[in-house]
Amino acid sequence: MKTSGEAINLILNCGSSSLKYKVFKSGTELCLTGGLVERIGAPDAVITHNACNGKALKKITGEVSNHSAAISMVLERLLGEGGFGKKQLKAVGHRVVHGGKYSAPVIVDNEVKKYLKEVTFELAPLHNPFNYEGVTAAENNLPGVPNVAVFDTAFHQTIPDFAYMYALPYRYYIKYLVRKYGFHGTSHQYVSIQAAKMLKKPLSKTKIVTCHLGNGASLSAVKFGKCVDTSMGYTPLEGVMMGTRSGDIDPAAVLHIMMEEELSMHEMDTILNRQSGLMGVSGISNDLRDIIKAEASGNKRAALAFKMYCYKIKKYIGAYMTLLNGADAVVFTAGAGENSHPMRAEVLKNMENIGIITDPVLNRAMVSGRVGEISASASPVKVFVIATDEELMISALADKMT
Ligand code: ADP
Repeated sequence: MKTSGEAINLILNCGSSSLKYKVFKSGTELCLTGGLVERIGAPDAVITHNACNGKALKKITGEVSNHSAAISMVLERLLGEGGFGKKQLKAVGHRVVHGGKYSAPVIVDNEVKKYLKEVTFELAPLHNPFNYEGVTAAENNLPGVPNVAVFDTAFHQTIPDFAYMYALPYRYYIKYLVRKYGFHGTSHQYVSIQAAKMLKKPLSKTKIVTCHLGNGASLSAVKFGKCVDTSMGYTPLEGVMMGTRSGDIDPAAVLHIMMEEELSMHEMDTILNRQSGLMGVSGISNDLRDIIKAEASGNKRAALAFKMYCYKIKKYIGAYMTLLNGADAVVFTAGAGENSHPMRAEVLKNMENIGIITDPVLNRAMVSGRVGEISASASPVKVFVIATDEELMISALADKMT
């Protein structure tokens, strides 16, 4: 889609071996184009340039050596056949997973870069170095265009100390900054803003429980637009059960397994992050769709994994509704949250006495990109399915900063 010289924001989301990008018309929610580079570093990387209506415009396979090369290729396409001019670029917005001390987006300068490298690489070694590489590549390719870093952790910086501290010797907080940080913040923020619109109330008067249920999963309690608690912690391992992550667990169980099996820290880390959750319990898959299918064909461990997954979400919803002293709405978002009506039905059943009454017909209808309310009209607490759009939120935040 071409624009006639209007300002645009380029939003980059660099994962360990992938780059997602979207282009928005500045000051609007209009997404002009986007795409995905997968298998960066491998000889057979796949580059898909999409139109924002989801239609694939172009798929290329070839070597993409690193994120910098991926960003150059994306820019080549946008500035070439994409029809955009370099001068149209108002800002480049970056998803940066860990912001450490930052409680809001920042324009990246040398001081910010120094902090990101010195402090946050240690806090998020699997994510932040790649996010940082994206910033550096954008700086090299687009001199003069401001780079705005939007942190997954920033939205959670309003969580009070008694909620973010762990009951460990205080010196570990001072020495190693060990505390709850929380993740998926941009998504929790985005869907809580959307929920306030659906409630037709100002955000500053709403109390919302947001459930981001994708590969990784977290819930947040959002009071008057500000996060007061979230389920992920120092790392994305804490909280509800996930595709391959354990979620909450007694640390003594971990120590015991390590001792009995003579596991190294790295091996135990792999078990907790990559071999647990739905995958670990079912032994079948980390994908909720496969678990539900296996359960339907009588697999007992799949049935157990499904029950555990839903139970833990229900528990957090209850806890967060208590923290908020009642909520206006509960929101389901991300891959499983947006698409899995059996999971939502299981999570939300028997919650009438705390004000949640689900409409089963509406719930079943809310799949494949459909969004809206799934609570019954008599339900005091509304339940919404909302499609998350972290890139749109980053673009809106980048607009505010530039
Ligand atoms: P990510 O967390 O990587 O950003 P998504 O938010 O897209 O990814 O979530 C992907 C996950 O969503 C998949 O692993 C799968 O478990 C789940 N999912 C997607 N569609 C469905 C569905 N129809 N039913 C159940 N789970 C689904």
